[in-house]
Amino acid sequence: MKKLKIAIQKSGRLNEDSIRILKECGIEFNNGVNKLKADAQNFPLEVFFLRDDDIPQYVEDAVADIGIVGENVVLEKNKNVKTVERLGFGKCRLSIAVPKNKKYNSIKDFDGKKIATSYPVILSKFLKKEKITAEIHEISGSVEIAPGIGLADAICDLVSSGSTLFMNGLKETEVILKSEALLIANKNLSEEQNKLVEKLLFRINALRKAKNNKYILLNAPNEKLETICKILPGMKSPTIVPLAEKGWSSVHSVVNENDFWDIIENLKANGAQGILVVPIEKMIA
Ligand code: ATP
Ligand code: MG
Repeated sequence: MKKLKIAIQKSGRLNEDSIRILKECGIEFNNGVNKLKADAQNFPLEVFFLRDDDIPQYVEDAVADIGIVGENVVLEKNKNVKTVERLGFGKCRLSIAVPKNKKYNSIKDFDGKKIATSYPVILSKFLKKEKITAEIHEISGSVEIAPGIGLADAICDLVSSGSTLFMNGLKETEVILKSEALLIANKNLSEEQNKLVEKLLFRINALRKAKNNKYILLNAPNEKLETICKILPGMKSPTIVPLAEKGWSSVHSVVNENDFWDIIENLKANGAQGILVVPIEKMIA
């Protein structure tokens, strides 16, 4: 069988999470220290370790069939690739920032100004949409120092906590993109390759679903079971097992992280006792 080739970042912010997601899918390979590629031992997959900037091009050219890369890079490089899945890690935003002591009213303030960025494509699309004419000064790194050295009036750069901006005396004024890591793919994969991508996606989604859900066990008096089962939807319906103590049952179910605390409070208020919550490793609906 022909192997599927995946490109991931060699080192940097997405490297660890990209490796982790593949390993959690049960795929074993060596980590690529001083290596360009590694063969997975138990899945027809070859892992390429690359600079993140190069990944969209490699995927377009089918040097790699799929890749994990930030949405910011995908949009900036604007290559002919398709997005298969948003992966939920590597979250950050691409923002415009100005020196802290500058008064800022609105986006119109950037008219006629100079903005330094490593994202000229995304920034110019944004300015065009907002009908702002500003000069874009492209630099490849250390963008945050540009206003301080008199190179630009503002910057457009990636932010997550905002501490880099803060340390450089800047404040965030406009968010122009909210980004996260994406699984991208070449647009002309063979049927066989698509099957492998689907297999991988199936595993990724089972993991993510499991992370968003918890397994819950509780004891309840039998007369409360009906109410409690209404609160706990479960995958199909809750499991009910009688306890050794007469008149009591143990109820097992799955709850979503989002409404977790509401459900717990509701259960307690309706007579549930000894509530246990345990993580789920994988979840296949
Ligand atoms: P490479 O050597 O592969 O070119 P890089 O230096 O360009 O790496 P990193 O700084 O490792 O890139 O960031 C990789 C990606 O991580 C970014 O493109 C972005 O999608 C994501 N990211 C998440 N948070 C941040 C952040 N605070 N700053 C920069 N990137 C972030
Ligand atoms: Mg890069």
